[in-house]
Amino acid sequence: MSMAERLFILQYGAERVSKNLSLAGGPHHLYWEPLLGILVDTADGWVLLDTGMSRNAHLSRENQDAYVAGGVDAPNLDSVWHLRPTPPDAQAWNWIRDGDPLVAALGDYGLTPSDISLAAISHMHVDHSGGIPTLSEAGVPIAIQSRELDFVQSGAVGISEGFFSDDWSHPHTNWRLLDGDEELAPGVSAVFTPGHTPGHQSFSVTLPETGTWVFGCDATDLAQNFLDNVPCGSCAGGTTADETEARASLDKLLALGRRTNTRLIPGHDQLVANAVAHPPQGHR
Ligand SMILES: [Zn+2]
Repeated sequence: MSMAERLFILQYGAERVSKNLSLAGGPHHLYWEPLLGILVDTADGWVLLDTGMSRNAHLSRENQDAYVAGGVDAPNLDSVWHLRPTPPDAQAWNWIRDGDPLVAALGDYGLTPSDISLAAISHMHVDHSGGIPTLSEAGVPIAIQSRELDFVQSGAVGISEGFFSDDWSHPHTNWRLLDGDEELAPGVSAVFTPGHTPGHQSFSVTLPETGTWVFGCDATDLAQNFLDNVPCGSCAGGTTADETEARASLDKLLALGRRTNTRLIPGHDQLVANAVAHPPQGHR
């Protein structure tokens, strides 16, 4: 079995959203979720999984309006206490690191965008795809499910649904289109998990000492999705077929989790992100 070498969890920022977006049938209250990335050292070079929100999107009035619309009438839970680092404004709707958050997060490990060999995006929501333009400028290929790119390029969704077209409109983006499960680099694979969006994917990373890590991304925002066997709370496609796919994707991830020595990591759970914090040299 091919293996990756080291793994790092990055945090680009955080967002204040209703919990029922993450958990089908969940409570409509506002709390904070982290914007995470996964950086993997492989025999083919550095692989980056998910890229956070761009500064342009953060500054977009339409994007902020969409966050407000999603949280209207929701009571606010004091959940800012668990964020690392702490957002400067607990009442903001989202917060990103200074400058270009992707550059800031990579800089923690002495890397720049041009050090990345391949990036992959779980799905095209604004809080995951924001680094694509910066990576495209640096010549980094971007792996995405072809079904996801077709979906956003169809024009069916826009910023009021959480999709920011600047992220997929850079003239130099070198797309690597995927069709289902596929190995991305030694020890790193895409796991096709549609439902939350039509072409959503999760990732698995296998390491020599700690075994296999499965990153559910937005198929499973929270540990509670796994524990309560409840799929994600929102499907961008908006049909019953999308909900059926979200259910099947959760089953697929749970099946992976039943294998010995597998760690299931939810996509937007700050307590789990804090628990898998690591020394500067990362997980092995
Ligand atoms: Zn999403």
